[in-house]
Amino acid sequence: MLLMKNISKVYKTDLVETHALRDFNLSVNEGEFVAVTGPSGSGKTTFLNIAGLLEGFSLGDYFLDGVNISNLSDNKSAAIRNEKIGFIFQGFNLIPDLNLAENVEVPLRYRGFSSQERKRRMTQALEQVGLAARMQHLPSQLSGGQQQRVAIARALAGEPRFLLADEPTGNLDSLMARQVMELLENINQAGTTIIMVTHDVELARRAQRNIQIVDGQVCDFTMFHQQAAKR
Ligand code: ADP
Ligand code: ADP
Repeated sequence: MLLMKNISKVYKTDLVETHALRDFNLSVNEGEFVAVTGPSGSGKTTFLNIAGLLEGFSLGDYFLDGVNISNLSDNKSAAIRNEKIGFIFQGFNLIPDLNLAENVEVPLRYRGFSSQERKRRMTQALEQVGLAARMQHLPSQLSGGQQQRVAIARALAGEPRFLLADEPTGNLDSLMARQVMELLENINQAGTTIIMVTHDVELARRAQRNIQIVDGQVCDFTMFHQQAAKR
């Protein structure tokens, strides 16, 4: 479970202080699929980066599976990030001159897995996204939707408990976006908790829970949706 209590994040530059998050409170349970929407500049990426232990925060407490993240050393938080968290980004961030198998395997190399274990995880992850047959292909030989599925496989190969996605369909046409969403739904049903930032209201509505970030704070619309569904 992920629990943020009164998190504030201030970016300071020479002249201005930007409060990217202020008194931000959120709890996400094991197995949830949370879609995050909100205006540009409202703090969505900042939230996701803090949740994924990519950046720190100025005030407040963050507990991930009961561990208080606020007091951890960089090494400790990197270890937790590697073990528990997978990321997907809008730009797929694949390495152009590595084939799909190598792209999926790269992050595993830094985690000290044997080559046999790396191969097992890589094969399984590419099978899960339906691209095992294309293992030897280069990213440039795939469509955008397929490239994003490779990026998802790369995240899955880490066997993360939490999958954090920042606009994962932002570069895709609506058909490919729906396919990527279906894949994420399957991954969620298999037990991975997913938090997805998106501008796509249609996709967001398919998630089990919708929150909006406005001005660095959370508005939770889950209750609203549940009531609307009952009517
Ligand atoms: P969103 O993802 O909702 O567009 P962000 O989390 O990227 O919002 O940004 C929230 C606010 O924090 C914005 O005003 C943005 O300009 C500011 N911000 C984000 N990152 C930085 C940074 N590294 N330095 C200074 N300001 C930043
Ligand atoms: P998005 O809108 O896709 O969430 P942004 O364009 O807000 O992304 O931010 C892209 C990157 O630039 C992020 O890493 C963010 O931290 C950084 N950034 C955003 N706003 C600022 C800013 N005002 N000053 C410095 N860096 C920023």
